Amino acid sequence: MSNNAATQPLAIKADREAGRLVLEWADGHVTEYDSEMLRLMCPCAFCQGEGGHSGWLETSPTLTAIQTQLVDLHLVGQYAIAPVWGDGHDTGYYTFTALRATCPCLTCAAERLNPA
Ligand SMILES: [Zn+2]
Ligand SMILES: [Zn+2]
Repeated sequence: MSNNAATQPLAIKADREAGRLVLEWADGHVTEYDSEMLRLMCPCAFCQGEGGHSGWLETSPTLTAIQTQLVDLHLVGQYAIAPVWGDGHDTGYYTFTALRATCPCLTCAAERLNPA
């Protein structure tokens, strides 16, 4: 368990209307994912592959509106969230660490290009 403020969310908001996930971190940073981007990051074995088998997402599938529809969000312990998608898919556990590490905002993108 990490006490790092950068990977500890104070608030997690699933905006189903806009199809967005917003995470507010303990260090004051805010991370926003649109639902399609989030769906493409699904870390489960089916989507990303496992043990040498390629995953569904590696076949570059065309995602349907249903497949990128965020219908619900479950908290997994104290370390991850599991979104529920319109097609019923809910096996992807997105850890807070990973969600922060891949934050798509300009500040974080620039930091990943030029680590301080
Ligand atoms: Zn998946
Ligand atoms: Zn960021």
